[in-house]
Amino acid sequence: MALINSQLLMVSLDAVEQEISKRVNIFTTIHPKVEFIRLDSGDVALPLIPSVVTAMLDSVREMGTDATFKGRGPVKGYQFLLDAVVKNDFKNRGIKISTDEIFVSEGTKQDVASIGDILCKDNRIGVLDPIFQTYVESNVVGYRAGILEKSRHWSNIVYLTATRENSFVPELPTERPDIIFLSYPNDPTGVALNRKELSKWVAYAIKNKVLILFDATYEAFIADDDVPHSIYEIKDARKVAIEFHSFSKSAGFTGLHCGYTVIPQKVQGYSMYSGKDILFNDLWLRRQTIKNNPPSYIIQKAAAALYTEQGQVEMKQNVDYYMTNASILKSALDTAGLQYSGGVNSPYLWVQSPWGSSWKLFDKFFNDCHILSSPGERFGPSGEGYVRLSAFANQNQVIMASSRIADLVI
Ligand SMILES: *Cc1c(COP(=O)(O)O)cnc(C)c1O
Repeated sequence: MALINSQLLMVSLDAVEQEISKRVNIFTTIHPKVEFIRLDSGDVALPLIPSVVTAMLDSVREMGTDATFKGRGPVKGYQFLLDAVVKNDFKNRGIKISTDEIFVSEGTKQDVASIGDILCKDNRIGVLDPIFQTYVESNVVGYRAGILEKSRHWSNIVYLTATRENSFVPELPTERPDIIFLSYPNDPTGVALNRKELSKWVAYAIKNKVLILFDATYEAFIADDDVPHSIYEIKDARKVAIEFHSFSKSAGFTGLHCGYTVIPQKVQGYSMYSGKDILFNDLWLRRQTIKNNPPSYIIQKAAAALYTEQGQVEMKQNVDYYMTNASILKSALDTAGLQYSGGVNSPYLWVQSPWGSSWKLFDKFFNDCHILSSPGERFGPSGEGYVRLSAFANQNQVIMASSRIADLVI
């Protein structure tokens, strides 16, 4: 009989999700006719932009024609997409990244969860807290997290706590992790780091030989000039950081799956056996060749269409739509007198519970406004006391939800 990876059972035993279902079920049994507005989602509401649809239809036709048919594509992605990424996301911003440093992927979640394949189990992990739980859970599956001490708190993980007390920007760790997961603009707090704040982390990583894994999924939502779109805008970050990009949120690719990972040629780890420095770029190529197929030609053509002039205009319209939702929600929270962060460089609002317990605020939104929100515990131990509202929703629903929030008596 085969032994299982029992760590997986630890991840799926999730008290938070069970508690949400329980509360929803109780309420809907008593009030079966009430329709809820879902502001708990990390999924998009708008359909694909026309440029993407056209590119996909054209490439499907190419695939059905003798002269233009494509079989298995290059492991790192098609050159046309690598070129478009480098030119638009890096070169035009004055950042030196070359196409051999880019790996087209099926999105950030997959790459963030798989990067552990090239990292030794004995590495100590540090994570921003609260954070997208894939960072933590993939390390649980990879035997790096230790044991579950209480809800969402693992013994061997260094939590970099972000709460209202530190304006959601954690202190540098006092206990050195080998690897730090950062994600800015952050899901769920909505907070972004400015150049000076991000430079502090890069300097720490260089000084302490720490690898930074930086998730730039929400880069397209940045509005402030002083917030970097890429960690490589910070001098010398290319020595210590791997960066993940996704088209999921900016371009509604959650059903198409495409993104890319940047591994600069300078980032190094070392081999336990030989003690020698090894380039992560070479290692990741090896791993991708063994395990991964990049997204199809059709999907990569769809992604490349985002970088055309028309694609950029249409994508910006979608981002603006969600950010308008965010500002509608912000005004409602202001009227209700609730404290929150986010909604400026990010489509999320992180609302502090006036009663201390996130569940009390969750219930208030749910019972009084018929809005489903995400209790902060979903995002890690420091999420306790907050709920996340998402601007990824239909605008009419957001307007309706906001008028109910504005009427709340706290
Ligand atoms: C939604 C989300 C992702 C998902 O990315 P995919 O490219 O769809 O896998 C990654 N990181 C964060 C922080 C997210 O919120």
